[in-house]
Amino acid sequence: MKNKILLPILAALMLYGCSSTSNVIDIKPRSEWKALDPKPYKSHVPTRITIHHEGEYLDPNENAAEKIKKTQVWGMGKDRNWADIPYHFMIDAKGNIYEGRNVYTAGETNTTYDPTGHLLITCLGNFEEQELTEAQLKSLIDILAYSCVKYKISPDTIKGHKDYAETLCPGKNLYKYLQDGSLIKRVKEAMKAYNNVK
Ligand SMILES: [Zn+2]
Repeated sequence: MKNKILLPILAALMLYGCSSTSNVIDIKPRSEWKALDPKPYKSHVPTRITIHHEGEYLDPNENAAEKIKKTQVWGMGKDRNWADIPYHFMIDAKGNIYEGRNVYTAGETNTTYDPTGHLLITCLGNFEEQELTEAQLKSLIDILAYSCVKYKISPDTIKGHKDYAETLCPGKNLYKYLQDGSLIKRVKEAMKAYNNVK
């Protein structure tokens, strides 16, 4: 418990005075998954957060970076012609958080809702079939809390894709944490660690 509180504070202190926009949360940059440059995109300001699953069963030992790259290549290809990977952040089974498209770019969807204004966070895996790992759930809470503070979004706006469109996404084993209120409760608690984030 002690470390949980101290570490973010120490990290924030270490970053204080740096002119960079470094994060107190470990977000793997796009170079980590060898991202292609994005195409021109539609700007937006995120005012709510929507959780997804990637939809394909994920073996926890799979190379998540390769999987993310494949999704980007497919999405930017002739079938979809998207500007970039559809999501703003992705989380693998080991709890690694990856930078997706620019947060100020509206995301993409295969379904019928308009993702403009939504910050899209996806967990790799299919949570109709599998459970989140503990590390993945913890990182989901961390990136949600960080995003709420950083982008000034109320945690009460956090919902699942299926709240907006005809889809099973983000899968019942993830959606249950939204249904029982535990996810938002934990996000509100975790936001305290990011008080210094600007
Ligand atoms: Zn979705």
